[in-house]
Amino acid sequence: MTVEATGTAYRTCPLCEAACGLTLTTREGRIVAARGDREHVFSHGFICPKGATFGDLTADPDRLRRPLVRRGDRHEEVGWDEAFRAVERGLRPVVERYGPHAVALYLGNPNVHTMAGGLYLTPLLKALGTRGIFSASTVDQMPKHVACGYLYGSPVAIPVPDLDRTDLLLILGANPWESNGSLATAADFPGRLKAIQARGGRFVVVDPRRTRTAEHADEHLFIRPGTDAYLLFGIVHTLFAEDLVDLGGLAGHVTGVDRVRELARPFTPERASEACGVPGERIRGLARELAAAPTAAVYGRIGTCTVEFGTLTSWLIDVVNVLTGNLDRPGGVMFPLAAHLSPRTRPGGNGFSTGRWRSRVRGLPEVKGELPVATLADEIETPGDGRVRAFITVAGNPVLSTPNGERLDRALGGLDFMVSVDPYLNETTRHADVVLPPSDPARKGHYDFAFLTLAVRNFAAYSPPVLPPDPAGMDECDILARLTLVAAGRDAGTDPAVLHEQLLDRALQRVAAAAGTPVDALRALVSGDHPAERLLDVALRTGAYGDGFGARPGGLSLDRLLANPHGVDLGPLQPRIPEVLQTPSGTVELCAEPIVADVERLRGALGRQPQDLVLIGRRHLRSNNSWMHNVPALVKGRDRCTLQVHPADAARLALTDGDEAEVTSRAGAVHARVEVTEAVMPGVVSLPHGWGHDLPGTRLAVAAEHPGVNSNVLTDEFAIDVLSGNSVLNGIPVEIKPA
Ligand code: SF4
Repeated sequence: MTVEATGTAYRTCPLCEAACGLTLTTREGRIVAARGDREHVFSHGFICPKGATFGDLTADPDRLRRPLVRRGDRHEEVGWDEAFRAVERGLRPVVERYGPHAVALYLGNPNVHTMAGGLYLTPLLKALGTRGIFSASTVDQMPKHVACGYLYGSPVAIPVPDLDRTDLLLILGANPWESNGSLATAADFPGRLKAIQARGGRFVVVDPRRTRTAEHADEHLFIRPGTDAYLLFGIVHTLFAEDLVDLGGLAGHVTGVDRVRELARPFTPERASEACGVPGERIRGLARELAAAPTAAVYGRIGTCTVEFGTLTSWLIDVVNVLTGNLDRPGGVMFPLAAHLSPRTRPGGNGFSTGRWRSRVRGLPEVKGELPVATLADEIETPGDGRVRAFITVAGNPVLSTPNGERLDRALGGLDFMVSVDPYLNETTRHADVVLPPSDPARKGHYDFAFLTLAVRNFAAYSPPVLPPDPAGMDECDILARLTLVAAGRDAGTDPAVLHEQLLDRALQRVAAAAGTPVDALRALVSGDHPAERLLDVALRTGAYGDGFGARPGGLSLDRLLANPHGVDLGPLQPRIPEVLQTPSGTVELCAEPIVADVERLRGALGRQPQDLVLIGRRHLRSNNSWMHNVPALVKGRDRCTLQVHPADAARLALTDGDEAEVTSRAGAVHARVEVTEAVMPGVVSLPHGWGHDLPGTRLAVAAEHPGVNSNVLTDEFAIDVLSGNSVLNGIPVEIKPA
């Protein structure tokens, strides 16, 4: 497709999970305006401040456009061939001398926002052959994957709240008014919440902080950080005690109900209340309201995952949805069906397990093919066989986003070799020997492989590149392909087309085997100017709504999406049970043994005394982790990186608004400016994450003027949810005094 340097273009925003449509104005090779696309089938014109800066973000002068190679303590620009030769020289000796597990890889969150991330990371991981795979998932949503893995047999079968049809929404530990939703793709999440109220429904927020979402809710309940599992068990207990359990249409598709009744017995609302702080009678009331509502959905996010009992909490959320008959029904929580995927033909499968291998130093189990990032520094620092000597990051900044960032920062300094695929020289990539910057988002096509599987309404959209390629830059698919080829032992100069063709061949062979059509005949039918487009075309045409390469005329294909730049609406979510279930029994298995065993751990903690002061994070509309702090429009205004303290705590700690406080945890200490506010409950302080842009050797001029402090200096790499390996980032015990 021809790319115009001047004109109007439509583009799915890749900056968060909401997948809004943007209308971009381009002039002479630059994006000069970004507005919401009013005709977009999913977002209907909604845009947030981050999306409005799409042009600024892509044209950021600090964005790297050429590779960098470290020479002494400086990074210098080099050509692409030289950069890949340097990668070959750095990686290969490590593999030859110490084996594949001596190379570790970290995948950051932005990977789920690119087509290259969706298509080219699996080949890279296979080529590396390492068990040292780490990602942002274990500082974010891994508990949800594990809970869904045990319940439904697949860690990616994640039901989302049917926001547009529900009558009652209970939100735990999520702030979609600021985040615009997570593990629930819902452009204009705030508008969808207002619509619940407008049609006579309600939404209730449970959170240790009065977030913007809580301010707009029909009710906000403060809860002690990390104790949502008790609240939810109190609800489950009540559902059984008051004979309110009604599986509705799920009857016959669920096993383990009686065992859940037994597990919930000790968690009376009064005992749950002692642990979580929500009054027992209110816990009973929530149970009754969820059971009585025509439809209801319980939705939990980061505050329910990044805690000590993250997997149990995620599991309990779905248990409540099951017991109230709200799983897989309109208005409850439902499984999306993305256009690039096919429905399964029958229920049942191998189920889910963890621990196929364990981390070398702490013996932590593998989960979903990766190890907890909380133990990455251990693996780099600890001598012995299998020690990590070389490190690859792809679009990640773990020094700022993972626990005990100061320790990881030191550990990275001791590596033999490090290469980063990243557009910025940031707090992590400053350690890299080679930095390979992908071209900016405006120069690549976009399809949301990850988020269309989580959308609250089925739809599909593809955005071709908005701007022409930078002649001196490199496409991200080419970068990952060349890295993969080097990892596979090929010469660093090998044409990336070799891998592009292999991937297309493999995709076509799968289709050919199923359809009985020769591969070459199919290949002639594939559309697309770019390798990622061709792979997408195959996936769409063989997916749930595809044209089957002509077998289903009018079905989806790349060409059809190109002809519909505002997206194609595929209708409201449809029930998918039992087809979606991949458990061995082909049912929703409520009581997998690892879950049952962990309930005992939760019960053992029931009488625990609450900590005096605990730290939680917080989200802001104009921020997304660490990587948007170099855009002036997103960081201007008053300092947002403040330590929120309740007035009662401020008084006893002799702190006033604007003071500098010293915050200390087991892991480290920071100084932060105090903001006294009743938005946090007593005993809770809040500091946002993703800040701390004051380290030397970075190239983030704007961020350096607004450095903030790194909250992950305080988070503890030894505090994890045992089932998922997810870090505990909320509910960190801290001490505070005037600085
Ligand atoms: S809500 Fe997310 S997807 Fe929508 S404009 Fe903002 S950053 Fe982009």
